[in-house]
Amino acid sequence: MAPDSAAPDIIVTAALPYANGPIHIGHLVEYIQTDIYVRYLKLAGKNAVYCCADDTHGTAIEISAEKAGVTPEEYIARWQQAHQESFARYAIAFDSYYSTNSEENRELSEQLYAALKAGGHIYQKDVEQLYDEEAGRFLPDRYVKGECPECGAPDQYGDVCEKCNATYKPTDLVNPYSTLTKSTPVLKTSTHFFFALSKHSDFLKTWLANERLQPEIRNQIMHWVEKGLEDWCISRDAPYFGFKIPGTDKYFYVWLDAPVGYISSLAHLLGGTMAAREAWNHAEIQHFIGKDIIYFHLLFWPAVLHAAGWKVPDNLIVHGFLTVNGEKMSKSRGTFLSADEFADKVPDTEFLRFYYAANLSHAMTDLDLNLKDFTQRVNTELVGNIANFVYRTLSFIEKNYGGELTKPATDERARQLLLDVQTTVEHVVKHYNTYEFRKAVQGILKVSQLGNQYFQESEPWKHPAESQDVLTTCANLVRDLSIICSPILPRFAERVQQQLGLAPQRLADLSVTLEHTRIGKPAIIWRRMEPLVFGKPEATSGAAPAGAVQASAAQASTAQTNAKTPDILDLIVAKITNVEKHPKADKLYIETLDDGSGSARVIVSGLVPYYTADELVGKHIILVNNLKPAKLRGVESKGMLLAVQQGDDVKLIEAPDARPGDAVTI
Ligand SMILES: [Zn+2]
Repeated sequence: MAPDSAAPDIIVTAALPYANGPIHIGHLVEYIQTDIYVRYLKLAGKNAVYCCADDTHGTAIEISAEKAGVTPEEYIARWQQAHQESFARYAIAFDSYYSTNSEENRELSEQLYAALKAGGHIYQKDVEQLYDEEAGRFLPDRYVKGECPECGAPDQYGDVCEKCNATYKPTDLVNPYSTLTKSTPVLKTSTHFFFALSKHSDFLKTWLANERLQPEIRNQIMHWVEKGLEDWCISRDAPYFGFKIPGTDKYFYVWLDAPVGYISSLAHLLGGTMAAREAWNHAEIQHFIGKDIIYFHLLFWPAVLHAAGWKVPDNLIVHGFLTVNGEKMSKSRGTFLSADEFADKVPDTEFLRFYYAANLSHAMTDLDLNLKDFTQRVNTELVGNIANFVYRTLSFIEKNYGGELTKPATDERARQLLLDVQTTVEHVVKHYNTYEFRKAVQGILKVSQLGNQYFQESEPWKHPAESQDVLTTCANLVRDLSIICSPILPRFAERVQQQLGLAPQRLADLSVTLEHTRIGKPAIIWRRMEPLVFGKPEATSGAAPAGAVQASAAQASTAQTNAKTPDILDLIVAKITNVEKHPKADKLYIETLDDGSGSARVIVSGLVPYYTADELVGKHIILVNNLKPAKLRGVESKGMLLAVQQGDDVKLIEAPDARPGDAVTI
């Protein structure tokens, strides 16, 4: 970006996705919601920017990278690329998409910390923590398990019991063990840095009075503040993937530098941290987040910014979670879909943008993706109502008037229509502005209904020669419709405007009357879609006989490989030691194997529809040892594993009692 880019008046952000897995359809709610809002602001002529970044630091990423046998930098780069590709498929248009592992973010985090320190908001304190002597590291809550101190349930995490929901400290666990090495952790003392959050209760109470915050959120946070806030530990011990705290051997806790990523994303856009801080301190700041991270965004973040003398957010918009068919997304029900998997199933990803918008309000309620309802609304509302009105109008003009418009109709019926449309459009704009996208969609559909009704009642097909003014009125409605739906359906709107022969339109263009002009070439944009079905993985090949042994785990991998099958197979036993999702292929896992050779071996296989990563780790499988290595979506696979295909299912052939490297004889 050019360093002289104009500073924005409004900075809008969505939460930073963690660089440790794919974007799924639940995440998309927020990125689409935010995208619609920013597109609306720009349509209204506002100087707004949409900033986001990958959240890249912390123990989880450090450990995942180590398991995957790559550096954390390589690991996060893979995910960032995958994230950006997924977002692009849904027309999510960030002005800046960056990484928290950037020089700008380091600079800004250090500046923020220096300001906190200078203001006397940081102090040091000894903390006793569980330490894994075998792994040589302190254990975060999620890396310790043991018996629940309340109910005695075994194998509970160090922060919360999934059996009785009790919350506690990892040191409270009975018979704790490290999930990394299974060893018994010891207590060890480390001196940490704390942010004095408790000193900022009064500030937070004032800040929370902000009328723009959703009342249910304000009440929840106010309740926490009134219960009394604990100071916040902002440091972590090595080994850690993150930024060193200057002058110490500690690292910033990921939640300290993650939200700073909003500002460094802005720095990436504006060409430097100075420009970003200047812009941040003068712009209106709005964060879109999910209800799972309100603690960080409505307590720590404003308190830290305030203490450092930086500008605090003006508004936070909190959404609920996504359910599918009324239930939590689930792998076993087949409703836990990545953004890419879903995109592969629908004719147009804008259908999901529409469906989410049609169900989003400013309230923090969960949003349900009901698959029957999805198909029905796409077919009746998008295809049957909106796209139908556009195409019947434009094709009629093309066929009967050679694409020429005259003046709009001026009779009483047309005047009443324009009044109704104008009122509805004003409501749509107001609803965008107040995050009530569900109501905005209702208004958009109403405009289209009014248009269809007017077309129908005018019966232009009976006397086309006298109906050019009626169709000109309809063409103006098509233009209006394309403008007001463009935040939700940007690609559709762009195509409609092209078919009208117009440059990209803004809200201000609504006041311009289209007349005595020539439209472009009409074309059908959408057709009815088939019912959308999730669930059981689709059959991977035609009619494989039950029990047929294949040298590939699934069709997904054979289709993409060019490895030659040798005449005589060399089969050995190998143990799966680690499994990662392939960042660029939904059905592929990247598996690390112990093949008895002493060095790790990586293969790629299409087992995602059949096994979870956890189910695979530890299995002893049969490996075809003498295949030519093949690249599968950019990752080299050194061998294939044997599996049995049974109808729609695929099962690995296992040799649980054999050792890695053992030969399989035929
Ligand atoms: Zn319990």
